[in-house]
Amino acid sequence: MPINTIGSTPIPKEYQPDILFLEDGVSEYPLVQEILSRLPGVPRQTFQDISLLTEQMKSSQYDVFGEGKKHLALCRFKGSFLKKCPGISPGMVCCNYYIVNLSKNCIYDCSYCFLQDFLGNNPMQVAYVNVEDLLGELEEVFTQYPDRNFRVGTGELTDSLALDTIVPYTATLLPFFNRQSNAVLELKTKSDQIANLLNHPDPTNIIVSWSLNPQTIIDQEEKGTPGLAQRLESARACLDKGYRIGFHFDPIILIPGWEEAYRELVNILCDTLPIDKVAWVSLGSFRYRPSLKLIIKNRHPETRLFTSEHLPSKDGKFRYLRPLRNQAYETIRGYLMSRSQELNIYLCMETREIWEGVTGKTPRSDKKLDQFFDL
Ligand code: SF4
Repeated sequence: MPINTIGSTPIPKEYQPDILFLEDGVSEYPLVQEILSRLPGVPRQTFQDISLLTEQMKSSQYDVFGEGKKHLALCRFKGSFLKKCPGISPGMVCCNYYIVNLSKNCIYDCSYCFLQDFLGNNPMQVAYVNVEDLLGELEEVFTQYPDRNFRVGTGELTDSLALDTIVPYTATLLPFFNRQSNAVLELKTKSDQIANLLNHPDPTNIIVSWSLNPQTIIDQEEKGTPGLAQRLESARACLDKGYRIGFHFDPIILIPGWEEAYRELVNILCDTLPIDKVAWVSLGSFRYRPSLKLIIKNRHPETRLFTSEHLPSKDGKFRYLRPLRNQAYETIRGYLMSRSQELNIYLCMETREIWEGVTGKTPRSDKKLDQFFDL
């Protein structure tokens, strides 16, 4: 079945779902009470089985994934929350990262987003409400391995903060991570929804990181997201509040004139914030599984993602050719280092050859990076 373009599905800046689906029994959770109080006028519908609900909704929609962003389902997660980062895929160098999936899908609509493929025809945004179970699981694992340092992120299948004013996970996660001696929480975002962070008194063990791109790429490829200036303003406010902050230049997209666009991005970043206080910047180039390409072309016909050639890497994902990736990393790293020699810069989801070509070392042979990863 053809996939409709997203043009008819604008994602509102101040997001509010069209409908709220509630799994039977979840109303007793404090988080659900909180969410309901923040969405007083939104129609509600209960359900028993999320698989059945998913099937019913799929059959009645056209751009299932795009329309799904307007539906918010609240339910319990029944598996194990904590997972190792999939960066350990074949041929890729892993940066020692763990993932917690509290939520699936995202209110934004970036053209390159792998969720369009990964979540397939998922007709809703799902928020898991049994946060107490997550905390129990984390406590057990952190206690069981006291010598291991855990770096935990919530932004794999969603944006960590985009929904935080409606589904305030941070209200529970921040105090929990504040107490840990061997774990940090990384909130990865493109959003400016930082009110809960600014209201929280303790920034200990919390890193907030923003994905950045030149504004011209944000305009074309990151629909519904706050602009570069808003992201940097939020980052600055969090830094002032004492949070550690980082940035992801990811995905780097090599549009014609990319050198100038990324030079300007680095200059804006370094002119807005004291770059020496930034914990790190990671670099990652646009990559995709073959199945995602057709979806992107159908949902985002105006995209500039495919203006260069891409070839498959060892992990099956398509990437820019290796010399071009090398050139991009070296160039952007050079811009950053010209503003700060001390800045920690690392490569995300890249091969050993690229790490060695660009930085002269792999992560585990770099003392500065080791210090960062072994927080
Ligand atoms: S912000 Fe992240 S999760 Fe959300 S649409 Fe963009 S790439 Fe996907």
